[in-house]
Amino acid sequence: MTTKAKFCPHCGETLSETAGPFCNQCGASLMELDTGINCHRCQGLIQDTDLYCRHCQHFTSSDA
Ligand SMILES: [Zn+2]
Ligand SMILES: [Zn+2]
Repeated sequence: MTTKAKFCPHCGETLSETAGPFCNQCGASLMELDTGINCHRCQGLIQDTDLYCRHCQHFTSSDA
């Protein structure tokens, strides 16, 4: 799967289809890795360092 994130998982910025591998807002990597944790809302794979779910934009830190 090479699905690209629609939101920056770090700053929550909405990303365009043409966005590169890094957020143009905060510089965070947008690449989806094979390992991580599951979003509490959509069960999508996210990184435990992510603040926002890259799939549903749920604010993951509020679950900690
Ligand atoms: Zn960002
Ligand atoms: Zn989610």
